[in-house]
Amino acid sequence: MTEETWGQVKDELQKSLGRSNYTNWIEPLVFRDLKSGVATFDVPTSFIGNWVSRNFGDQIRHHLGKAGAPVSRIEFIVPSAAPAPSAQAANSEPRAAQQPVAKAAAAAVRPAEPGLPGAPLDSRFTFDSFVVGKPNELAHAAARRVAEGGPVTFNPLFLYGGVGLGKTHLMHAIAHELQASRPDLNVVYLSAEQFMYRFVQALREKKMMDFKGLFRAVDVLMVDDVQFIAGKDSTQEEFFHTFNALVDQNKQIIISADRAPGEIKDLEERIKSRLQSGLVVDLHPTDYELRLGILQQKVEQYRQQYPDLVLAPGILEFLAHRISTNVRVLEGALTRLFAFASLVGREITMDLAQDCLADILRASDRKITIEEIQRKVSEHYNIRLSEMIGPRRARTIARPRQVAMYLSKQLTSRSLPEIGRRFGGRDHTTVMHGVKRIEELKGHDHQIAEDLELLRRSLEA
Ligand code: ADP
Ligand code: MG
Repeated sequence: MTEETWGQVKDELQKSLGRSNYTNWIEPLVFRDLKSGVATFDVPTSFIGNWVSRNFGDQIRHHLGKAGAPVSRIEFIVPSAAPAPSAQAANSEPRAAQQPVAKAAAAAVRPAEPGLPGAPLDSRFTFDSFVVGKPNELAHAAARRVAEGGPVTFNPLFLYGGVGLGKTHLMHAIAHELQASRPDLNVVYLSAEQFMYRFVQALREKKMMDFKGLFRAVDVLMVDDVQFIAGKDSTQEEFFHTFNALVDQNKQIIISADRAPGEIKDLEERIKSRLQSGLVVDLHPTDYELRLGILQQKVEQYRQQYPDLVLAPGILEFLAHRISTNVRVLEGALTRLFAFASLVGREITMDLAQDCLADILRASDRKITIEEIQRKVSEHYNIRLSEMIGPRRARTIARPRQVAMYLSKQLTSRSLPEIGRRFGGRDHTTVMHGVKRIEELKGHDHQIAEDLELLRRSLEA
């Protein structure tokens, strides 16, 4: 392949991916060579490489093939520390942020600078203390990228995920890093709730001009838990204006929420679409490896203070297995365990752990209930919950009901008569028949099989 072929392919990609994707992701790629079916490109950062390969790899291969240069694989290479050749990179600030940044070691919670609208940062929430695993690697990489403080490439960065998965931690880490490497930037972090509070206060004190001025003078704005402003009309309105004013000035915005922009109820459409216009990345629920990594890191930290901490083997693995997906709960369990052990002056054994964490362990053993199954299945098939338990036998109702009975048998430890009772007092033979019917259907009806799989996964999540 020649430079020219790549030029053609780029044109095609611009058409199929749209301008903003093209500028952000394709333009930075520099074609290097094509050897035995492997096309190699230089990329400015491994983040861009990963992103392009995940999201656009297939399309790039497709277009290369069409242009007469079939490739089986694409590889990205980050040119080593040598100064990047592109004009953009040459103009940017020295990449101090890529080196480990001196940590604000013991400085407790740092107060926000006077006059700035931001909230204090937690000094423990740094990149150094953030454990990276499969479920959060993209979010972490995106946060790192923004923390480099280079030219704004995606705006906003939208981070979302369930509680305790590290959204706030990552945002604070970005703020710490920027404050260290770019003290000239006016970095402001606050929760959506604080944003509203400030706004309402400004309204009451008739200081809207000050409010607007303050927020429009920010270089990097981070708003945490933005789902909070859903349904709060005038706050949304003001947030939208602030947002637009900053984006127009090419100022970086970072937003977090507990769910994807499109799924936040009572949020204006135009805000949703604005929030989706940058880079949207989610933090997945933790997996075993990540939980274990986090526990190990916490133990390390704790050991620095209490070097004689003794932990029986297998404890961390046990906790990583048994405690839910929420990192906050995991941390809480460990803290309690340490506190307890130091109080009673004992080494931490498995028995001690089970005793002292009994309630947390029990709560984590989440049991799926029949009610939950009925609700999920009704939603899935778009019927009413009352119909699910009611007498109608029309196929459109009866089939979902049988699916729910089947799942109740599979996912709970309830007996057939008990299940029957919860389905409007049906006989256990009816339940048995329903379960059998779905078992049969599952074998040859792909739709049912897929429905079951989807429902099971969402119930077990
Ligand atoms: P969220 O804002 O998503 O609800 P937080 O950022 O407040 O969650 O995280 C909850 C707690 O878990 C914090 O103490 C945070 O430091 C910790 N935590 C979450 N994810 C990680 C991680 N990957 N590595 C280390 N600590 C983590
Ligand atoms: Mg948070």
